Amino acid sequence: MPSEFTGKHVTVAGLGVSGVPAAKVLHGLGAHVTVVNDGDDERARAQAAELEALGVTVRLGDGDTLPEGTELIVTAPGWKPTKPLFTAAGQAGVPVWGDVELAWRLRGLDGRKPAPWLAVTGTNGKTTTVQMLASILKAAGLRTAAVGNIGVSLLDAVTGEQEYDVLAVELSSYQLHWAPSLRAHSAAVLNLAPDHLDWHGSMEAYAADKGRIYEGNQVACVYNVDATDKPSTEDLVRAADVEEGCRAIGFTLGTPGPSQLGVVEGLLVDRAFVEDRQKNAQELAEVSDVDPPAPHNIANALAAAGLARAFGVSAAAVRDGLRAFTPDAHRIAHVADVDGVAYVDDSKATNTHATEASLAAYESIVWIAGGLAKGATFDELVTGAAKRLRGAVLIGADRALIREALARHAPEVPVVDLDRTDTGAMLQAVQEARRLARPGDTVLLAPACASMDMFTNYNQRGDAFAQAVRELGA
Ligand code: ADP
Repeated sequence: MPSEFTGKHVTVAGLGVSGVPAAKVLHGLGAHVTVVNDGDDERARAQAAELEALGVTVRLGDGDTLPEGTELIVTAPGWKPTKPLFTAAGQAGVPVWGDVELAWRLRGLDGRKPAPWLAVTGTNGKTTTVQMLASILKAAGLRTAAVGNIGVSLLDAVTGEQEYDVLAVELSSYQLHWAPSLRAHSAAVLNLAPDHLDWHGSMEAYAADKGRIYEGNQVACVYNVDATDKPSTEDLVRAADVEEGCRAIGFTLGTPGPSQLGVVEGLLVDRAFVEDRQKNAQELAEVSDVDPPAPHNIANALAAAGLARAFGVSAAAVRDGLRAFTPDAHRIAHVADVDGVAYVDDSKATNTHATEASLAAYESIVWIAGGLAKGATFDELVTGAAKRLRGAVLIGADRALIREALARHAPEVPVVDLDRTDTGAMLQAVQEARRLARPGDTVLLAPACASMDMFTNYNQRGDAFAQAVRELGA
């Protein structure tokens, strides 16, 4: 079937997670596809060979030169907007789309009614919230999937065999940057803390890219009432151009006002999607239905509930969906209790904002932290958590930054500084943490840093922690 892509010269920027499937789909639609890629390693060559066998042109080792005749670029979301390829595209008037924009434009191309998107972004909590949302939508009997960084890829969701009634979509700030025409049914920005600023150029640019998720929303823009970030997520709602009648819906850990979801006496309640919201509220679930019931995770559950309710889902389905949800590995995962001390793996806390939430969830903590700081500072984090720290064990390349912040703001907290980076380092860290801990304490791996100095990724770091805890208990 001919489409707007038939015969079009499309350059796909970047092999990899989104590039290979994008090249295949575009080729299948009759486009002349050229893939450009910076790297020229073994993996890239294998991927290139696969695509070349289909008739796609691949240029390895040069991601900066715009191929002659390019009419459209489809880029991997992580490619920086300042790359020469995009400067050249700008000069030549060639549009640049990301993987999300491509998926958005391909909806309905096969003649099927496109599924609406309920979209989620934020600095932290995206994956969890999208999974909670998908669980709620499933409990309501809807055909759905959590898509984005997790589970099904967006391209598969819009071009695959499976039909959906609605999609729960996780979007990063990079993806939003490259998705100018995306129009979600409803969307939520969970929180906004400085992250990836080297990519976006400034906090304003980062916030503006996150705020794009609200553009064109039809039913609800869900924002965080409690967040003190500037600009606030509510500011982003105000700045967005939405469809007539679209509502701003807040979520809060406090008592909700009209048009908000919040918490009252251990219950998650909805004061937005009820009749006469000045007087009425609808009970959705108990706080204990949320796993784990840490404050930031209740906020995630409220945001997911807000999006589901905007889609017309019943209160009972919200409760059932939340009860059925289990968090992914390495996100505040309780590993074991040893001698009355709980060991918790939050290896996914790779930045200070996530770690702040994690540290706020426990009363008395031996904190295992460190790794690659990615330009972060730790003063605020340490100041906020100082009272709850029994001790700290520091690992990884940038541990001195955390050690110095502890010395400045929590000088009484005992600190163990581990300078080894071999595979036994995590075992020693856990042993040191055990030594510092008292019964009732929590040993919390919440590194506030990326893992790649010592591990392949945060999964491997979390697995090493869990393995070390098991060795303690053995
Ligand atoms: P993302 O997909 O945005 O990276 P995840 O759901 O995978 O988010 O969680 C990432 C990390 O952020 C975890 O360590 C988790 O403990 C923490 N986190 C989850 N939700 C929130 C939130 N609402 N606010 C702050 N931190 C959070």
